[in-house]
Amino acid sequence: MSQGQHTDRGAAVRVTHSGGRGGALLLCEHASPHIPDRYGDLGLRPEWRESHAAWDPGALALAEVLSEALDAPLVAGGVSRLVYDLNRPPEAETAMPARSELVEIPGNAALDAQARAERIDTIYRPFCATVEALLEARPRAVVTVHSFTPVYFGAPRTTEIGVLHDADSRLADAMLAHAPDTRRVERNKPYGPEDGVTHSLKLYALRRGLPNVMLEIRNDLLTSPAEVETIAGDVLAMLRPALALVPVEVSDA
Ligand SMILES: [Zn+2]
Repeated sequence: MSQGQHTDRGAAVRVTHSGGRGGALLLCEHASPHIPDRYGDLGLRPEWRESHAAWDPGALALAEVLSEALDAPLVAGGVSRLVYDLNRPPEAETAMPARSELVEIPGNAALDAQARAERIDTIYRPFCATVEALLEARPRAVVTVHSFTPVYFGAPRTTEIGVLHDADSRLADAMLAHAPDTRRVERNKPYGPEDGVTHSLKLYALRRGLPNVMLEIRNDLLTSPAEVETIAGDVLAMLRPALALVPVEVSDA
């Protein structure tokens, strides 16, 4: 391991509210656009380094409000998903993408096995280990918090809040039953399990039989603290009753 890796140690994963006693564990895999120094700028044009391609704008701010409201621990990634996408398994091409929507990532174009292994070991594994340890200590419902761009490949998206699930839809079903009329809340939009976005749900929750859901919020609704509070209120109006309805039953991983 080089010295450079040590200077970034600890940045890959951040835990807040770790003593929370609520029934949910919150994950925010795409919380930061940070690119550790050892990767340079990945050859990215400056306008893309802070764009939705590099992270989920507003998602961490929302997750922090939910964490307080639900007394829930929050595990957030500290590195851009263009370096390693924590919601993808190491074998996925999209874990270290050479292209994302309209963005070329030259620094990912010719990664050899060693370079891939370095990112897996220093970014993905520490995040996994942190989540696993928290769930070992206390099984809880797993709720992942994301945001999505209002325009994708030039097409506007009308979904405001996406409630996503994989094989276990219990928590999503209960949330959707409490969806406010004032919001466009939709199941498995703008993505679904067929797009490979349920890796964290499968890895941490489905294996253990824990209730789980992935939240996708359109990022133009999260541009100020006041907007984040408003969306948090809408999410909590669905999530609180859903968590109360769906029991956490532990099964061995
Ligand atoms: Zn995301």
